[in-house]
Amino acid sequence: MQTLEDMRLWIEAIINSSDDAIISKDLNNIIVSWNKGAEALYGYTESEVIGKPIAIIIPEDKQSDIPMTAELIENRKHLHHMETIRITKDGRRIDVLITVSPIFNSEGTLIGSSAIARDISERKKSEEILHRSEERYRKIVELSPDTILIIQDGKIVFVNQAAVKLFAAENNEQLINKDVWSLFTPDRHGIIRAHNQTMKATGQAISNIEHTVIRLDGKLISAETSSCPIIFEDKPAIYIIIRDITERKKVKIFLETDYIISKNLAQSARFADGINEALKNLCHMLKFDVGRVWLLKENENILECISTWANEENSDDMINNLKNQSTLKMDEGVAGITWANNDIYWLDTTHTAPSTDADDNEFKLEIGIPISNAGKIIGILELLNSKFINKDNDLIQALISISNKIGVFIEHKLATNEIVLLQKHDLTTGLSNRSLFKETLTFEIYRAKSKNKRLAMLLIDIENFSNLSEVIDLDAGDQILLNIAKYLTILSSDADSVARYGDDQFAVIIEDFHKLDEISQFIDKLNVVIDEDLTVQGQKVNIQLNVGVGLFPEDGDTTQGIIKSASIALNKAKLTGGGTLQFCTSDMSNLSNNRILLENGLRKALDKNEFLLYYQPIVDTNTMQVAGFESLIRWSKDGKTIPPSDFISILEETKLIVPVGEWILNTACAQCKIWNEELQRPIFISINISPVQFKHSNIYETLMQTLKNSAIDPACVKVEITESAIMNDIQKSIRMLNKIKELGVKIAIDDFGTGYSSLNYLRLLPIDYLKIDRSFVTNIINNLNDAAIVRTIIGLANNLGFKVIAEGIETEEQMKYLNNLGCHEIQGYFFSRPLPAIEADEFLKQSKLI
Ligand code: C2E
Ligand code: MG
Ligand code: MG
Repeated sequence: MQTLEDMRLWIEAIINSSDDAIISKDLNNIIVSWNKGAEALYGYTESEVIGKPIAIIIPEDKQSDIPMTAELIENRKHLHHMETIRITKDGRRIDVLITVSPIFNSEGTLIGSSAIARDISERKKSEEILHRSEERYRKIVELSPDTILIIQDGKIVFVNQAAVKLFAAENNEQLINKDVWSLFTPDRHGIIRAHNQTMKATGQAISNIEHTVIRLDGKLISAETSSCPIIFEDKPAIYIIIRDITERKKVKIFLETDYIISKNLAQSARFADGINEALKNLCHMLKFDVGRVWLLKENENILECISTWANEENSDDMINNLKNQSTLKMDEGVAGITWANNDIYWLDTTHTAPSTDADDNEFKLEIGIPISNAGKIIGILELLNSKFINKDNDLIQALISISNKIGVFIEHKLATNEIVLLQKHDLTTGLSNRSLFKETLTFEIYRAKSKNKRLAMLLIDIENFSNLSEVIDLDAGDQILLNIAKYLTILSSDADSVARYGDDQFAVIIEDFHKLDEISQFIDKLNVVIDEDLTVQGQKVNIQLNVGVGLFPEDGDTTQGIIKSASIALNKAKLTGGGTLQFCTSDMSNLSNNRILLENGLRKALDKNEFLLYYQPIVDTNTMQVAGFESLIRWSKDGKTIPPSDFISILEETKLIVPVGEWILNTACAQCKIWNEELQRPIFISINISPVQFKHSNIYETLMQTLKNSAIDPACVKVEITESAIMNDIQKSIRMLNKIKELGVKIAIDDFGTGYSSLNYLRLLPIDYLKIDRSFVTNIINNLNDAAIVRTIIGLANNLGFKVIAEGIETEEQMKYLNNLGCHEIQGYFFSRPLPAIEADEFLKQSKLI
């Protein structure tokens, strides 16, 4: 049996063996017991604290712990795990976790309390560190200039401030829970999915991928992303950093432009080439519509345009304006004002008064940059744009840097006397030089393109000129050149179109020619004057010219393409030698001869009554009777019947289609009138109208006149106009078709489905029939695609209230198929080929169809 004393020692030993501080106090907060752990923790020995108030180990700011614990004890509650601060003998503040318990005597009366305290400073410190570092990371993430998103299950679960800004959101909430795919353009979804898979599989980050991201306001920005898989709130997530690289890309483009231009200038041997290339690349890379370089001619006090670049989309008028404006006085135009101010000129015409330069008022933005060298203004770089660009310091800096480079280049070339090349004319002959010729050719190609005209470039070479100039003296050589230059200028209508292209080469542009033999005639005339006229120093000289011809659009539709074609042709001509004319396209010479013959024949065909109209029956699927005919022209020449595919295009090019078309209309209507009178039911006539007739001639008046002449019921007349003719200028077509419609005739779109139709416009057209092109009918049985197209066209026509005609039906199977699809009318060899009027008449009367 243990004594009470034993028991006390026993408990004391247990208490002292604890590392925790175990102390007790009475109800007056006086310390009653103090174990070894308390000595270690607080630094006081037992004798130092027994009988002292507990307050000695409690810091000022935690004195409130005393009444608080007293109150809890009074209420006889245990107090678990109170984290607080105590103070040691040497004044250190330590974090402690205290558990306080009440002490009762044997009668159950509260007599004091015990407290077990554990030092938690270390834990607190590490917690603090962790907290601080978390805070720091949170701040880093929150304040990062890069956009940071965390994505879980395809949804955004965290965004930082930069993200709010980048996506033009008002606050975080607008982004949280948003579908991540809505932030990237659809073309990037595939690649993002692939990257997500890779990250999942490898656990590795994927960095610096360029994307286009979509802001909440719909604006697109270039961005670079880096992503890595993380665990966020215990679940797998993807951490994405997005960096806006619009600015970087912009600066990169400026740097690249600057670099390319430096290269252009440094590498070009010739002055004009350097400037032209530099200007072209500048406009191209920085997206300007027009660029010009002006050089200051100090003695004449004017600016002279030495290079122009214009985007192909500019209008013909504007290009002509540019071409005509080759000098400027001070204060004139953008360049003149820039010169006067000797400062950057930036006119945004959308925000300010109208342009100062009446010619350029199509442009929303006009910029002038002085080109200076050593502080002296030597020229102006002018840039025009039809789109407005924000005034941008980086852009201005880039332009200044570029114009400085151009300045150094000009000054250098001036110093080395190469500026002579600048002059756009050849010193010996006074003709345009090669560089001006190229410019002229470019302009002429633009013009020809927009006016749908042809153009030829002739490259003319003097045979054996180098040998010739060895036997005659230099002056005599120059005399020959001068003379040829003179003849060429006289023979061609526009002096600007003639150039000295090389030492012994000339180039000529022949615009808007109608027949290829105009070219041979030009050369013939030249040869004649040379033969008759060319004398040098009183002596007759015999020279031969070899000529190469490049045609627009046949041989190319760019300046380079045409020049190349003309050069190829010239080489061929030189090989043959002895004064040869060669076209680039190998068979062109033969072709041209053929064509000249055809053209001449066609001019006389109308007078000689050589045109015939054939008629192909068109069958109504309801009654399976001939409902009408399509008139199709033939040319009967030297006993042969020539099909329209061989001559319609020539009739069109030469505009002969206008009188021939009138003849067709009159003949077809007259024939139809006969049928209508003979048969006791209406028969219609379907007449093809060429796009040229539709566009140029007075088709409305002609039709009206024809209807009157033939006294035919207009409802029996159908005009077939091809899809392409209508879609060319849709607004104009709608107006014209409405007028035609007023005459009471029916309108069909021929060759429907061959590609031009804008379905939106179809409903606006006052038409009655869609004529499905033969190409779809040919394979309708075997080709699912064609069948589907035909079915769609029929559906579309039914919707819009049009009837459908199918042409080119050659077999019974095709006939049945189209019948089943609900075609209203059908036409083709299955019923009959196009027939001369008499045979068509027989066919109709026998109605041997069904
Ligand atoms: P288009 O107006 O589409 O005429 C239909 C062409 O298809 C005609 O050729 C016709 O003979 C041919 N065709 C009809 N059924 C069949 C068939 O079952 N199988 C085959 N393989 N071909 C069939 P054509 O007469 O040679 O006329 C060709 C094109 O010339 C016409 O195409 C039209 O664009 C034009 N054309 C013909 N006559 C005239 C005319 O009087 N004036 C104008 N401006 N153009 C005409
Ligand atoms: Mg037709
Ligand atoms: Mg057709």
